[in-house]
Amino acid sequence: MAWDFQTEPEFQEKLDWIAGFVSDEVEPLDLGLPHHLIYDKRHPVHEEVVRPLQDEVTKRDLWACHLGPELGGKGYGQVKLALMNEILGRSSWAPSVFGCQAPDSGNAEILAHYGTEEQKGRYLEPLLEGRISSSFSMTEPQAGSDPKEFTCRAVRDGDEWVIAGEKWFSSNFRYAEFAIVMAISTPDTSVYEGASMFLVPTDTPGIEIVRHVGLMGEREGEGAHAYVRYNDVRVPADNLLGGEGQAFVIAQTRLGGGRIHHAMRTVGMCQRALDMMGERALSRTTQGEVLAKKQMVQDAIAESWIQLHQFRLQVLHAAWVIDQSDSHRARLEIAAVKVATPQVLHDIVYRAMHLHGALGVSNEMPFAGMWVAAPVMGIADGPTEVHKVTVARQVLKAYEAVDTLFPSAHLPDRVDEARKRFAHLVDLEAGNQ
Ligand SMILES: Cc1cc2nc3c(=O)[nH]c(=O)nc-3n(C[C@H](O)[C@H](O)[C@H](O)COP(=O)(O)OP(=O)(O)OC[C@H]3O[C@@H](n4cnc5c(N)ncnc54)[C@H](O)[C@@H]3O)c2cc1C
Repeated sequence: MAWDFQTEPEFQEKLDWIAGFVSDEVEPLDLGLPHHLIYDKRHPVHEEVVRPLQDEVTKRDLWACHLGPELGGKGYGQVKLALMNEILGRSSWAPSVFGCQAPDSGNAEILAHYGTEEQKGRYLEPLLEGRISSSFSMTEPQAGSDPKEFTCRAVRDGDEWVIAGEKWFSSNFRYAEFAIVMAISTPDTSVYEGASMFLVPTDTPGIEIVRHVGLMGEREGEGAHAYVRYNDVRVPADNLLGGEGQAFVIAQTRLGGGRIHHAMRTVGMCQRALDMMGERALSRTTQGEVLAKKQMVQDAIAESWIQLHQFRLQVLHAAWVIDQSDSHRARLEIAAVKVATPQVLHDIVYRAMHLHGALGVSNEMPFAGMWVAAPVMGIADGPTEVHKVTVARQVLKAYEAVDTLFPSAHLPDRVDEARKRFAHLVDLEAGNQ
C-alpha cells in the first residue's frame, strides 16, 4: 500500500531551506528590480546580485535540479521537482536563481540531446551556468496552435540550411544568444514529419526583429516576445538538431515535465495570493469587525483553499504518473493539469485582489502580474481547447478499448439479469420486500 502524502525527511529539509532562502533572499529581487532584467543576463545585476545567490544554491547542490545526472543534475523525479517548483513559484526571480528558467531549461535539454560537441561547448555550458539566455521560435504570426498552418521554410543549400519565414512571440529573443527555430524542411509531407529544428545564433545575418511584443500592461517596445523575420538566414548543416523531420519529437522532449513545473509554480503563486487574502481578512476592519468574520469573505477563503488543494494534488499526481512511466504515457494527466492551471489561478487571484479593495488593483501589490499570468497560462504552450481535446480523446480511448469494463453501456441487460438474481428475495412488481 503506497498512497503516501508525506515528503521524506531528508528532502523536506531541502524544501525548508529553499523556502527560507526564497523568502529572505530572492523575493526582495521581485520587489526592487524590473521583471525584464531576469532574462537580460548581460545586465550588471546578474553578476552583482544574482550570481552570489546562484553560488549559494550550487553549494547546496540544488542548481538546475531538473537535469539528468549526465548533465550535472540530481536526477530528481517529477514529484520532487514539483515540490521544489511550488516554492519557486512564489518569486519571478527564483527559477533563474535555481537554474531552471524557461525557455532556457527546455532548450538546454534539447541541446544536451541533439547538439554537437562544439555547440554544447559554445552554448550549452554557459546556458547551464546561467550566463546566457536563449529563445524558442516556433509560433508564427498566422499560426500557433495548428502547426499545419506553419509556413517558415528551411532549404538545404550545400553545407548550409537557409531559413525563410516569420515567427511570433519568440520569448526573450532580445536577450538570447541563440534561438531554436522550427522550420519545414520537407514540405510535401505532413508537418509532423516534415518540420525540423535548427540552432540559430541570434547575430546571424538576415535576422530582422519586426518588433518586441509586450504583454498587456507593458508599454510599446518594452516587451520580450519578439516578432522575428528570418530573411534567408544561413546556418551550417550541423545546426540541424536531431534528424530531418524530428521537430515535433524534439519539441515534446521539453514540454512534458515543463508543463508540470509551470503548474506547480502556479500552485506557489496561488498559495501566495491565499496568504495575502488571509492576512487581509484578519487585519482589515469593516462595520465593527474584521473581514474574516464575514461569511462571504469566509466563502472566498474556503473556495480558494479547496480549489488550490484539489489542484495541488492533481499536479502532484500527474508528476507521480510521469515518474512511474514517462511524459508520453502521462499525456492525459499533463493535459488535464494544463487545462486546470489558468482557471485556478484566475479564480484565486481574483478573490485575493478583490478582498484588498483599491489596494488590490493598485501597482503596490503583486496581483496585476498574477492576474495577467492567468490568461497567459491558458494560451502559452497551446490553448486550453487543444488540451481539452487531448483529455477527451484519452478518456474516450479507454472506453473504446474495453467497453465491457463500463457496464452502464449495457445497463438494460444488466438490470434484467440482476432482477432475476434477486427475484426470490424481493417482489419488485408488488414493491414488497
Ligand atoms: C507569454 C507567452 C509566451 C510565449 N512564448 C512562446 C515562445 O517562446 N515560443 C513560441 O514559439 N511561442 C510562444 N508563445 C506562443 C504560444 O505558443 C501560442 O500563443 C499558442 O500556441 C497559441 O497560438 P496562437 O496565439 O496563434 O493562438 P491561436 O492558435 O490562433 O488560437 C486562438 C484561440 O483559438 C481557439 N482555438 C485554437 N485552436 C482550437 C481548437 N482546436 N478548438 C477550439 N478552439 C481553438 C482558442 O480559443 C485559442 O485560444 C507564447 C505565448 C505567450 C502568451
